[in-house]
Amino acid sequence: MDPNASSITVAVRVRPFTIREAAQLVFDPPEDNPVQKFTRSVVPSAGKKVKDQVFAFDRIFDQNASQTDVYEGTTKGLLDSILDGYNATVFAYGATGCGKTHTITGTAQHPGIIFLTMQELFEKIQERSNEKITEVSLSYLEIYNETIRDLLVPGGSKQGLMLREDSNQAVTVAGLTSHHPKDVQEVMDMIVQGNEYRTVSPTAANAVSSRSHAVLQINVAQKDRGADINEPHTMATLSIIDLAGSERASATKNRGERLLEGANINKSLLALGSCINALCDPRRRNHVPYRNSKLTRLLKFSLGGNCKTVMIVCVSPSSEHFDETQNTLRYANRAKNI
Ligand code: ADP
Ligand code: MG
Repeated sequence: MDPNASSITVAVRVRPFTIREAAQLVFDPPEDNPVQKFTRSVVPSAGKKVKDQVFAFDRIFDQNASQTDVYEGTTKGLLDSILDGYNATVFAYGATGCGKTHTITGTAQHPGIIFLTMQELFEKIQERSNEKITEVSLSYLEIYNETIRDLLVPGGSKQGLMLREDSNQAVTVAGLTSHHPKDVQEVMDMIVQGNEYRTVSPTAANAVSSRSHAVLQINVAQKDRGADINEPHTMATLSIIDLAGSERASATKNRGERLLEGANINKSLLALGSCINALCDPRRRNHVPYRNSKLTRLLKFSLGGNCKTVMIVCVSPSSEHFDETQNTLRYANRAKNI
């Protein structure tokens, strides 16, 4: 592998209009057609038109892209790395309501990346079962206001869990439960249940906006059949992360506690952005500031090095959200360009 090649892929997914947005569209004059604006330029809220802004990304998925299209264009390619023993990470980034949870978890009719990934992972393991003994375990946690909670214990764990870095280049979360689902349906049931325990709080931006980062870690341990009993397992972790909404605290007109949440969410997202920037810059690659947040500490051995990272940037097609869309694309563009 070229040591200078960026192993970070940035894809943008534009969700379809919601029914409410589609109804409003009718009242927009034709020259304000949001889809045209989105593809050609971005207009600031002040109303004066700025020069067309061009952002470069590896891949764009429009309103018509299916869950399978998104899976195949982003995450599918990571499975071989995982089976070769390298960690990999997938993020869904974007403002509340732009499709992160739809992309990562999805619905029973339109299952998302977690389901499609696990389905293929189980298939690949089955195919190799004559040569390899493979064990899959997973954990699901949230980071909310820099506190880690287990999403797979009934009711969600009450206590904050501690991060530990052990001697063989792994970060563990003390007390986090580990599970061995036998099929994809069991995985899906666990995730849907876990999502219900996620910390949500009402904000002006969205009544059920999620203010937490949800982190699924799929650990794959392998060994050759017939290998010496003392031979170590190959270990790799695939992290699939539904990030908290990226909207600025000010945009949601919050006060007090909500504002504090906003500051912490921004701290984690900012730390993530700084790490990705550093990883993309050959001069700074040895000084990645992982220690600045819980999220980046947890992912210390899952970003950079031989790890592949995919950022799926979710945006709304509506003119109502131009400011957010522009901020989101700037963040992603910065991650890509530096
Ligand atoms: P987020 O997790 O970013 O806050 P959601 O994934 O909850 O956003 O999406 C907000 C709403 O839009 C949900 O009702 C979701 O089902 C719907 N939605 C998002 N993306 C799509 C899509 N690509 N196709 C159909 N519906 C979508
Ligand atoms: Mg969500």
